[in-house]
Amino acid sequence: MAEETIFSKIIRKEIPSDIVYQDDLVTAFRDISPRAPSHILIVPNKLIPTVNDVTEDDELMMGRMFSVARRLAREEGIDKDGYRLIVNCNAHGGQEVYHIHMHLLGGKPFGPLVVSLDD
Ligand code: 5GP
Repeated sequence: MAEETIFSKIIRKEIPSDIVYQDDLVTAFRDISPRAPSHILIVPNKLIPTVNDVTEDDELMMGRMFSVARRLAREEGIDKDGYRLIVNCNAHGGQEVYHIHMHLLGGKPFGPLVVSLDD
């Protein structure tokens, strides 16, 4: 059984966060340390530590992460100009929180290749 992170407490609303979307499969909330005018984390309610732990049973939930990203991008008004979706995996991917999450970043242009969220 994987160890819970701070994200499980956010999902259960045991600690405060700026939740912008929640349904039966995923929760989305604003990053505490935003690296762009819009920086939202889209997180499965179920604890999956990394992309390496995703199974075929998770395909509905992973698809939901993308459809929620599209919906939130429209709500944030960044869909037309564009945005970046990032999923980091393990140490070389720069993952800090071991509860899989998708970063939705927008509101400013990014270069063609990102090596750091701070680029
Ligand atoms: P990673 O590097 O794992 O892909 O990204 C983890 C992200 O979670 C970072 O961008 C970090 O700012 C964000 N984060 C870490 N702790 C918290 C928290 O307690 N609340 C919120 N809203 N974001 C957090």
